[in-house]
Amino acid sequence: MASLVIHDLHVSIGDRPIIKNLSLTVNSGEVHAIMGPNGTGKSTLAKVIAGHPDYTVTGGDVLLDGRSVLEQEADERARAGLFLAFQYPSEIPGVSIANFLRAAVQARLPEGEEIDATAYYKRLYAKMDLLKIERKFTSRAVNEGFSGGEKKRCEILQMAMLEPKMAVMDETDSGLDIDALRIVSDGVNALRGPGLGVLMITHYQRLLNHIVPDFVHVMYDGRIVKSGDKSLALDLESRGYDWVKQELAALPA
Ligand code: ADP
Ligand code: MG
Repeated sequence: MASLVIHDLHVSIGDRPIIKNLSLTVNSGEVHAIMGPNGTGKSTLAKVIAGHPDYTVTGGDVLLDGRSVLEQEADERARAGLFLAFQYPSEIPGVSIANFLRAAVQARLPEGEEIDATAYYKRLYAKMDLLKIERKFTSRAVNEGFSGGEKKRCEILQMAMLEPKMAVMDETDSGLDIDALRIVSDGVNALRGPGLGVLMITHYQRLLNHIVPDFVHVMYDGRIVKSGDKSLALDLESRGYDWVKQELAALPA
């Protein structure tokens, strides 16, 4: 079984601490949602797990199956089984999705091993059927002129082909319209299972009506201040975040 362990994590941007002592464990087979008001550091967490250079880890660790990923390059993290949804390249004119995905799958094979084209297309088509994606979609150039929904479809298909152990998805800033929301949630629901752990970061409770999480965490001011099951997401929808802040304020310092 795979695990993603975030342990006492502290992250700064420049001199400014953004994440302050955050701990969280995601096991394969589980879907965790992190919610929280704007500016609490949710995207920062996703970017640190992805290895974004702007963020400095000043304490703690992020471990995949017991090994720290913090010193690993992005491709090493991917090879170890980590998938980061927002890492998707913006636009690659002239490169079809089919060829792009093939290169991504090839890059994860051990040195010297070649993809078998027949097996690759068989697997690609099986995943496209699973995700209800039309065949002609993969002949389009990566993200060129794509709608928000098509970008998400491309991202989910990439995730399906890479078969990660852990997927970290930041759906906060992407301005998910109804179409994109449905594609992400149907995709995650089709791919979720015992071999996959998901850390779904979102600002919208709405997404969690479609992807029912096993655990919900509230992030506030750089740390997780409350964890629960899916009912916590409903509480947040009806009551907002203020009650969480009030509860925190009432705690002894
Ligand atoms: P969230 O995703 O929860 O809305 P972010 O992680 O995007 O929050 O941001 C947390 C805080 O860090 C915010 O105050 C934001 O302005 C700041 N921040 C995020 N990224 C950068 C950056 N690259 N440079 C400077 N400040 C940043
Ligand atoms: Mg964000």
